[in-house]
Amino acid sequence: MLEVNEKKYDYLIVGAGLFGSVFAHEMTKRNKKCLVIDKRDHLGGNVYCEKKEGINVHKYGAHIFHTNDKKIWDYVNQFATFNNYINSPLSLSKGKLYNLPFNMNTFYQLWGTKTPEEAKAVINEQIAKYGTKSPKNLEEQALSLAGKDIYETFIKEYTEKQWGKKATELPAFIIKRLPVRYTYDNNYFNDIYQGIPIGGYNTIIEGLLSGIETKTNIDFFEDRVQLESLADKVVYTGKIDEFFDYKYGQLEYRSLRFEHELKEIDNYQGNAVVNYNDSEYAFTRIIEHKHFEFGKQPKTIITREYPENWDRTKEAYYPINNDDNQRIYKKYKEEAKGMQNIIFGGRLAEYRYYDMHQIIASALTKVTEISEL
Ligand code: UDP
Repeated sequence: MLEVNEKKYDYLIVGAGLFGSVFAHEMTKRNKKCLVIDKRDHLGGNVYCEKKEGINVHKYGAHIFHTNDKKIWDYVNQFATFNNYINSPLSLSKGKLYNLPFNMNTFYQLWGTKTPEEAKAVINEQIAKYGTKSPKNLEEQALSLAGKDIYETFIKEYTEKQWGKKATELPAFIIKRLPVRYTYDNNYFNDIYQGIPIGGYNTIIEGLLSGIETKTNIDFFEDRVQLESLADKVVYTGKIDEFFDYKYGQLEYRSLRFEHELKEIDNYQGNAVVNYNDSEYAFTRIIEHKHFEFGKQPKTIITREYPENWDRTKEAYYPINNDDNQRIYKKYKEEAKGMQNIIFGGRLAEYRYYDMHQIIASALTKVTEISEL
């Protein structure tokens, strides 16, 4: 057991997800001594993959890497080679299959329109009728962006089961992620760079954490004083409200339940991602993992993703960034700003709906800021 005053590390990093791993990697390169701990029994946070039947199973939901930033793309390519997977999810709504994101294929499947002019005419008419100039919530945003048919077929029910709230109670920005496109292009993302790391995401995490001390099955809150005493500074990537013992109130999160199933067939749905857009199904999507890597295994593994209410016994996956929660978060953020020796980063500590590339960018920025002090 170490003495309380014996600071063995420069940084104690709480959480071995992407933020913590990038931070640890960069600081180790700068000759800082890091210890990375995680409460789970593995490293990698939510990008962790479990290999079963020769298939990399995205244990905590589909992770598809995409970015427009060449620096971030080059950064991850140091640790893995990416395949040429392009995310082209399908949507099942009221018994019919559609292409996503909303593009000329979808419009043909919805209305039989064949040219951009025809499709635009339908959408613009609906936007004129149901849209508003300055949308104040997700429903208004969707109606103003894509019209009524798209909203009702693909967005309303999916969103309400995903977030457990009415679309009118959710912030508009959530839906800005969904492009509307007048070409026959099923690529879900607009970014220049996209793919899945060959060998799975664990390859990246192993590369980032290579040569760094790590400990799994360690719950920071069970031994906080002792753990904090080990290092000059703490990098905390967990829930920010939990860090402050919920003193300004509890932030809301959305949780997920993943139901993994092994199927004795080689191909279950012919695509990596199928969204289930209506309320007939409690899950929002089925992932068939082998298709992320063009797998030829004789069996297949699928995962149904069920959104769930969050409570303190469950994993928090998504922050719910509505006005009430943002107000609470601001108080925690203010207090966090005044703490010289604690660095807050990642989806849960920054209470932001980050994608992987944004988390990496945020960790790199933080390291640069600190190194320039
Ligand atoms: N969304 C939707 N229908 C879909 C896919 C997404 O209405 O078929 C909405 C939904 O509100 C969701 C948001 O768009 O929360 C972002 O979805 P995306 O798939 O980009 O996010 P992820 O859950 O993968 O982070």
